[in-house]
Amino acid sequence: MDFETIIGLEVHVQLNTKTKIFCSCATSFGDIPNTNVCPTCLGLPGALPVLNKEALKKAISFGVAINATINQDSIFARKNYFYPDLPKAYQISQFEKPIVGLGSINIEVDGEIKKINITRAHLEEDAGKNIHQSDYSQVDLNRACTPLLEIVSEPDMRSAQEAIAYLKKLHSVVRFIEISDANMQEGSFRCDANVSIRPLGDKNLYKRVEIKNLNSFKFIQKAIDYEVERQIESWRSGNYDKEIIQETRLFDTQKGITRGMRDKEESADYRYFPDPDLLSVHIPQDLLDEASNIGELPEDKLNRFINELGIKKDDAKTLISSLEMARFFEDMLDSGASIKNSVTWLNVELLGRLKGDINLQNCGITAQGLGILVKRIDEGKINGKSAKEILDSMLKQRNNDVDFLIKSLGLEQIDNDDMIISTIDSILSANSDKVNEYKSGKDKLFGFFVGQVMKNLKGVNPVKVNEILKEKLK
Ligand code: ZN
Ligand code: MN
Repeated sequence: MDFETIIGLEVHVQLNTKTKIFCSCATSFGDIPNTNVCPTCLGLPGALPVLNKEALKKAISFGVAINATINQDSIFARKNYFYPDLPKAYQISQFEKPIVGLGSINIEVDGEIKKINITRAHLEEDAGKNIHQSDYSQVDLNRACTPLLEIVSEPDMRSAQEAIAYLKKLHSVVRFIEISDANMQEGSFRCDANVSIRPLGDKNLYKRVEIKNLNSFKFIQKAIDYEVERQIESWRSGNYDKEIIQETRLFDTQKGITRGMRDKEESADYRYFPDPDLLSVHIPQDLLDEASNIGELPEDKLNRFINELGIKKDDAKTLISSLEMARFFEDMLDSGASIKNSVTWLNVELLGRLKGDINLQNCGITAQGLGILVKRIDEGKINGKSAKEILDSMLKQRNNDVDFLIKSLGLEQIDNDDMIISTIDSILSANSDKVNEYKSGKDKLFGFFVGQVMKNLKGVNPVKVNEILKEKLK
């Protein structure tokens, strides 16, 4: 029997506001525990939450990016549960009437485009963090009340590969519209995966298992693959009813397995009700308009690079692989570098030299620096071989002064017209027989003349040589 995998994903994205969603404490990561707190995010009695307008704007921008319905009227609800990192014993979230309604994004897997529907996206506060020591635990409430956007997909994905493509697309969308740094190590982009299986052709949905708190693409892939295998095996061995229950599981990253954590709560378990401390949200038209003005989406940028700049699809994909890359490339063009050489020198030469922990952000090369290097190649001031040497030095010395390096490495091509002209003249007069042959139609000899000049003038700009020679041989 063949099986089909059904995957739906819930993604929590931390919005990059300066302050928390219902108070004015800082959202910065990695500060001394319990220093960014106030009565509201500590959940002290009588403290009143006030919605952060920036968080609302960023949620709307996301809705616009995925072509979703924006609910101009929405409400916040209390989601009741007890956990030590949640001092109020409820989380302020949205249940009925979330800010963002039905939308979708397209993913590409093996060259096929597939539309994945997004059921909703709602605003909520994050909980604090429990830090477990050997025989006691500590609670850090700095993260409590930081703004999250929870993005819930339809169960539209049919493989771990599709799930990863969806997550990568989502990750790039929130980065490009700059509503989140989406740093996965810091937990700013984390995913819960709902996974179930069914016999191929069967239209029913069976028991779904939720795998919680996955924060790397690699682990998400492994967790889903493991879980699908577990469910299929128990179906095949006739133990599906007994072994598979609707539950929440955790992925053990050491052992590569999922493990039962608790029964899956249904929404009724949370006793949602509208939060009486918060007004219902009405989005005025001017705020809606302002938030709708989002940056260029990755897909639009890709199409523009291909169609307007004439860049090959694979190269364009590399260029939009991150916001930093796209920005770096566009800044190179702004510094006057040609499109074609910028693509090569960024995608091939610079990326090819970045190894291990060194990346575009920390390698010390600026877009301006690489742009000028490319510009000097464009102008014929240096050749490709010298440019490689210069780039190596730039990386080694973390030096972006290209013109200084050209000079200090002695790599400047001879650009002195008088010197080139006099060399050409003496070569032509010494080879007058060949000049006559050339003029009577032996075009191939042009290469011979170029070669002679290059030999006599090491480091000469070949573009100039060609130009002057052509003129002289007319
Ligand atoms: Zn606070
Ligand atoms: Mn949530």
